[in-house]
Amino acid sequence: MKLVRTRQELTEIVTQWHKDGETIGLVPTMGSLHEGHLTLVRALDGKATRRIVTIFVNPIQFNNPDDFQLYPRGLDADEALLAQTGVVDVLYAPDETQIYLPGFCTRITVSGPDKMLCGGDRPGHFDGVATIVTKLFMQTRADIAAFGEKDFQQLCVIRRMVTDLDLPVTILPVPTVREADHLALSSRNRRLTAAQRQQATHLPQALQDCLAALKAGKPVAATLERCTQTLQDAGFAVHYLDLRSEKTLAPSEKADPGTRLFVAASLGDIRLIDNMPLA
Ligand code: AMP
Repeated sequence: MKLVRTRQELTEIVTQWHKDGETIGLVPTMGSLHEGHLTLVRALDGKATRRIVTIFVNPIQFNNPDDFQLYPRGLDADEALLAQTGVVDVLYAPDETQIYLPGFCTRITVSGPDKMLCGGDRPGHFDGVATIVTKLFMQTRADIAAFGEKDFQQLCVIRRMVTDLDLPVTILPVPTVREADHLALSSRNRRLTAAQRQQATHLPQALQDCLAALKAGKPVAATLERCTQTLQDAGFAVHYLDLRSEKTLAPSEKADPGTRLFVAASLGDIRLIDNMPLA
């Protein structure tokens, strides 16, 4: 695995790969890697002949400067973890100068799925995500890119953008990887204190209980309310808890297959998100 820090070196490598008829698989990340990220890398098995993982903590997708500053970082550990997989060709870890040139002023604006769920309390977040993901598609010249269902709304936004802008890349969705107690793996979990980590287990538990009640035919609104209350009692500030269509992310009043529960809730200043399908 080669660690690449500059755009120029990356361009030389991917240009040669294209000449040689290789296909390029991409896993974009913000680092602080865990098993969820490695599962995305493995999901590219047999789907691309070359694999690039990118690590870039993208400032323009953070609407809270403290959240950006406090986002966990550790390139050496990430590099060692990826090298161990034996299947990554390039780790591209640019600094901001390689991504945002002086005078940078162009952004992709997404609407539709941007306005709801995380788009509501993180204005501009998905514009920042869409912009960096497009830039990484262009810089890496990826044929296929893996994204986790852990960030289901992000996956929807990117799929929509790829369709709308005719981007020549296939999107590969990957199911959420969880801890033994079902908490979704996340780089942000590293910031939880031991006590908060124990509290955090209530998040997947509440979603599972909520799903069970919905499947048993309990009314949607009252069930969501009860689940929200359970999370608040466990010490969470709940930003949203909603049942939505997997296709459009529109709110659903009926617990049908093809709907999914979405939650964002904070412990202290650490914002956790999760989602689970009804079917
Ligand atoms: P991040 O580094 O958090 O921006 O995530 C990079 C990619 O990894 C995104 O496509 C995420 O959806 C995905 N990802 C993060 N955590 C998980 C997880 N627990 N399971 C599956 N994919 C994940």
